[in-house]
Amino acid sequence: MRIAIIGTGYVGLVAGTCFADSGNDVTCVDIDERKIRMLQAGEVPIYEPGLEELIKKNVREKRLFFTRDLPEAVSNAHVVFIAVGTPEGESGDADLQYVLAAAEQIGKAMKQYTVVVDKSTVPVGTADKVREAIRKVTSIEFDVVSNPEFLKEGAALDDFLKPDRVVIGVDSERGRKVMGELYAPFVRTENPVLFMDTRSAELTKYAANAMLATRISFMNDISALCEKVGADVDFVRKGLGSDRRIGYPFLFPGVGYGGSCFPKDVKALGATAREFGLELDLLRAVERTNERQKKLLVNKATKHFGGSLEGKKFGVWGLAFKPKTDDMREAPSIDVIEGLIGKGATVVAHDPVATHSAKRVFGDRIRYASVPYEALEGVDALFVVTEWNEFRHPDFERMKGLMKSPVIFDGRNVFDPVRMRELGFTYFGIGRR
Ligand code: NAD
Repeated sequence: MRIAIIGTGYVGLVAGTCFADSGNDVTCVDIDERKIRMLQAGEVPIYEPGLEELIKKNVREKRLFFTRDLPEAVSNAHVVFIAVGTPEGESGDADLQYVLAAAEQIGKAMKQYTVVVDKSTVPVGTADKVREAIRKVTSIEFDVVSNPEFLKEGAALDDFLKPDRVVIGVDSERGRKVMGELYAPFVRTENPVLFMDTRSAELTKYAANAMLATRISFMNDISALCEKVGADVDFVRKGLGSDRRIGYPFLFPGVGYGGSCFPKDVKALGATAREFGLELDLLRAVERTNERQKKLLVNKATKHFGGSLEGKKFGVWGLAFKPKTDDMREAPSIDVIEGLIGKGATVVAHDPVATHSAKRVFGDRIRYASVPYEALEGVDALFVVTEWNEFRHPDFERMKGLMKSPVIFDGRNVFDPVRMRELGFTYFGIGRR
């Protein structure tokens, strides 16, 4: 099949590359000139494990192309994916301006029957709006399909190539057939393709992210209670997760959820409910807990240092919103670092891959260390904010030798509290004895 992908970000680039790798001809379109120029020159604008190699392979085999020319890409395509951003709007709802602009451009460029797929995360009813936007500018036949994406940054290729399920909201038999064929190579192990109506598909995506965010906030609440009553959240987590009705994933307490999806999607789902006269109280609580959690480490540090952080120097390990990505959107590190420098402290931070995106957030208000130990020289404490693997087994004696005082605020519970105390560190985890 010939495919055009509109929006070459974390989702569009991964989807385009994986569709090309299963033999389709794929053209990825973006309005960002810098991004397209980099990709045409063989460079990859984002960090995602394994992606660069797969892009190179498919470019070499002439199945994957990059362009800013949307009309050219769309006019040749059987299937067009909309994978542009849907950021938070003014009242917490999803801002659809990029999706609807793309839809109109697609409508104007179509030359033959086309399946137009909403891949972006979009509120209930968007497929109808996209259909209207296209219908206004063309008389050519088309179908609009909702196909939300569930990939996780950091494991995006695996998630896309071997999805737990593929959700397809479609109202026509013709559209259903095309989508079934397109996804057949990715569901050979009998993972289901779930066909449904477009509204249910749209809502499924938000419900999934809201459920995951709820689990995180729930555990953060439980970890706060653990600290009060002298329990250890790690024991509680294992006791909970071993119940098959509950399961282990997404039960880790920490410094709050972030990223480009959970914060905006929880808000947008609440906004959709309000639009239909329903208040989802649970989601409000999920958000409130998350806001509290993002401030937790700075509050712990302020208390430990006697009420003031003025003039202190801190090391931070981890900037990206989670390991194995360079994405800084809504990263908890932003709250931690802004909290520290807002209280008069200085910060030197290390992240294995996110320094370049962090520079766009903090500029020269903090210093950047090229290796973890460099972020420890003369510091009053270390903050662990992202649980990169390389932070799990450091040389603790070397750390102690570099730090001015051996204090650790571990926002991801990567270290063992008992061992840390034996080694002579003053250690603060989340919800641990
Ligand atoms: P992104 O910001 O990385 O990429 C979006 C791209 O779209 C940008 O490069 C932008 O320049 C481009 N764009 C905007 N308007 C355009 C137009 N008219 N024509 C061509 N290109 C245009 O965003 P992302 O993280 O890939 O997310 C895209 C969508 O997928 C969002 O709705 C998001 O909620 C959803 N999603 C994201 C993830 C994730 O992990 N990032 C996972 C699942 C779903």
